[in-house]
Amino acid sequence: MVYENQDVFQRALQLPRVPRQGAVQERHIGGSRRPSGDPGAASKKTVCSNCGTSSRSHYDRKMHRIRDVDAGQMRIYLDFEYRRVACRVCGGVKQEAIPWMAKSSRHTQRLEDTIGHYCRSMTASDVAKLYHMSWDQVWRLDMAYMERLVAENPPSKHLRAVGFDEISVRKGQSYVIIGADLDQQRPIWVSEELGRSEEDMDKFYDEIGPGRCRRIRLGVMDMWPAFRNSLERHCPKAEIVFDKFHVLKHLSDALDLVRRMEYKRVAEKDKRFIKGQRYTLLSHKANLDLEGRRSLALLLKANKRLSKAYVLKESFGQLWDYNNPTWARKFFENWKAQLKWSRLAPFEKFAGLVERHWGGIVSYCNPNHKVSLGFMEGLNNKIRVIQRRAYGIRNMHYLRLKVITSFIGN
Ligand SMILES: [Zn+2]
Repeated sequence: MVYENQDVFQRALQLPRVPRQGAVQERHIGGSRRPSGDPGAASKKTVCSNCGTSSRSHYDRKMHRIRDVDAGQMRIYLDFEYRRVACRVCGGVKQEAIPWMAKSSRHTQRLEDTIGHYCRSMTASDVAKLYHMSWDQVWRLDMAYMERLVAENPPSKHLRAVGFDEISVRKGQSYVIIGADLDQQRPIWVSEELGRSEEDMDKFYDEIGPGRCRRIRLGVMDMWPAFRNSLERHCPKAEIVFDKFHVLKHLSDALDLVRRMEYKRVAEKDKRFIKGQRYTLLSHKANLDLEGRRSLALLLKANKRLSKAYVLKESFGQLWDYNNPTWARKFFENWKAQLKWSRLAPFEKFAGLVERHWGGIVSYCNPNHKVSLGFMEGLNNKIRVIQRRAYGIRNMHYLRLKVITSFIGN
């Protein structure tokens, strides 16, 4: 049905004010006629939607229908007349600029915003059901919403501290790189190509541009040569911190390797203590339930080598409690001394890795390097949640937008 009493509805629905609005229509499935009637007087200037040039005249007028935000169970469509302008700059006939219309020109901007908001916490399928839209429509609106957010929130011109992480995609078969602004605590870049080579990393610096690169003073990352080399080449003033989160990840991997080696080595009757205990062994004791703690105690009692490895792994985090490099070094020497005669080859390898990167690890003591290092760990977890929600969506551009916009205000 077509509502004739425009003013009341315009106010009730908080519709955008346009000079020549046709009529508001409520429509249920099945469609409806276009409204007739005088569209009203034209305003003076016409602005080209393509380039922003304003003209005094216009080329012609067209009727247009777009969908607006639902009002309860009602779907709202707006019929209105817009003008087209023969733009002298673009050299063609273009539609006039209508600020409240989405770029797709099939929805209002606020409908795009609404759908985008829902897609922050719901799957596209659920939003499609809620709004009686197709999955494709929701997907396109969400993409447009996110593109706009990202364009409106470029990386800071005063980028100082950056952090990098990699996340596995395609069932762990490949990686993408995440770059974050550690002062603003938000991701600003996600690689769109799979891979974590130096070449892949270079694209971050190409995108943020040489001006930002020159200002970067601190790079927080994993002990991965590609990340380090690329940073050193692009940001001559930056210092490197290999952060706790990434260092401890290598230690967890070492412990897991010991577990697998021990499983192979021990007699059949002792295997049962080790079997299926990966989670128990690698998670923080505080996160284990009663049963988990009991199996852990049994496992550590049954296997001396694993027990030793576990204790060493648990104690290593203390390194980051020292504020003085000399004391940190003493701690590390003590820790290494305990490895002697323990036959924990993966741990010895880890100690070598730490040794080779010592300067970048202990540089956390530098007061200028006090950034929120926990941020990268939290980011990693949050991205896993996003990946789970986007289950089945393999589009890298989508993942990139989702990750970046998740940290841009609400
Ligand atoms: Zn133009």
